Amino acid sequence: MVNIDEEEANNLSAHLGQTRAQFDENYLDKGESGRMVVNAIPCHFLVGNSCSVYEHRFAGCKEFPAFHVPDFNKRLFTTYMHYDRCPIIFNVLETLKIDTGFKQPTT
Ligand code: SF4
Repeated sequence: MVNIDEEEANNLSAHLGQTRAQFDENYLDKGESGRMVVNAIPCHFLVGNSCSVYEHRFAGCKEFPAFHVPDFNKRLFTTYMHYDRCPIIFNVLETLKIDTGFKQPTT
């Protein structure tokens, strides 16, 4: 699930020609704290293996897998949880395996 903020929601709803109320109803879940997340896995905007709103994608999408943010290892569970659902996560992890020389342990 992708976290988004007000500015990102305003930007993408304008791009899609939707009011914020329509956009929120169609695509978002809101927590009590005001936290907003895209309410579908895979994301609504994933078409085939591509992001259909690439130029307007969210900061969390642009920075994925966010190595610059502390505690990458604590986010691994959710990353792997979506590995087989999102081609973008799949491709990032498969590229990392190649770049790091990962080898499947033999039994
Ligand atoms: S990159 Fe695009 S398809 Fe992927 S989560 Fe972000 S908005 Fe959705």
